[in-house]
Amino acid sequence: AGKGQIRIFDPAMRLAATKHLEYRSELSSALEQDQLRLVYMPFVDLRTGQVTGAEALVRWHHPEHGDIPASEFIPIAERSGLIVPMGEWVLDQALAQAARWRPGLYLSVNVSAVQIRQPDFVERFVEAVDRHRVPPGDVVIEITETTLVDEGDRATETINRLREEGLRFAVDDYGSGYCSLSQLQRHPVDLLKIDRAAIEEFGSDPQGSTLTRTILQMADSLELLTVAEGIETSVQLRELRRHGCDVGQGYLLSRPLEAHALARRFSGAEPVAAS
Ligand code: C2E
Ligand code: MG
Ligand code: MG
Repeated sequence: AGKGQIRIFDPAMRLAATKHLEYRSELSSALEQDQLRLVYMPFVDLRTGQVTGAEALVRWHHPEHGDIPASEFIPIAERSGLIVPMGEWVLDQALAQAARWRPGLYLSVNVSAVQIRQPDFVERFVEAVDRHRVPPGDVVIEITETTLVDEGDRATETINRLREEGLRFAVDDYGSGYCSLSQLQRHPVDLLKIDRAAIEEFGSDPQGSTLTRTILQMADSLELLTVAEGIETSVQLRELRRHGCDVGQGYLLSRPLEAHALARRFSGAEPVAAS
């Protein structure tokens, strides 16, 4: 595997490569054949326990393999460019849902580097938000820490133009890549989503929690709202609350929900795991 490196073949690699090829050809018809759908991962205010919005996550209902999570096909869609029409479909569907929510509830959508590289990305995004009459201030765009670093000035320009239109930005998977503090300060973002891997160690291991504690302190001084991803245990929840994290997502609070089930969470007064 290149100079001074070896890589050992494992049968799982062949399986992964075969699956990749298979998915790649099938994915292009998935859009046309209505095999994609969205689920929504609630955002929970960690002080009040109320659901304050949700993140749209795409799912592929494969005719043979059943539901396939985004983590398995988004990278393939990115490499083939299919992420562009798929991203437009996601935005359209998600905005159609959000248009029915009461104003003030957040809709968050993920976008890839390939999408923000499209010359008309900003125009098309703004056009879709206008068309669905969703208040731009209720829409959050998530871009990963890695995209932010790799795209550099292009990311800054896109973020600036969309923020001028009133939309908000979140850095997704923060703490998993190599975004320096100065890079973070340079990008005018609103929210910091702390990566699940950092949250996993939080509470259980005092060394491991230093990263999350530091991120929370830093976000506080930069006046960014903090979102913890992938909360699975009540210890993590308690520690995050204790250290002032604003918002949480994760299986402990809720699994990703169908649109109708999410609507019930919005109207239901009972807080989620508020104890
Ligand atoms: P993400 O935006 O960081 O989304 C969080 C992922 O973690 C989701 O996986 C979600 O189901 C999972 N998750 C949330 N809470 C927990 C938890 O408590 N425990 C565990 N084990 N997992 C949890 P998913 O849906 O497979 O998405 C993976 C990634 O694919 C997303 O990461 C996002 O970067 C990307 N993605 C998803 N939907 C879209 C989309 O519509 N467009 C684009 N461009 N990317 C998308
Ligand atoms: Mg996300
Ligand atoms: Mg994430």
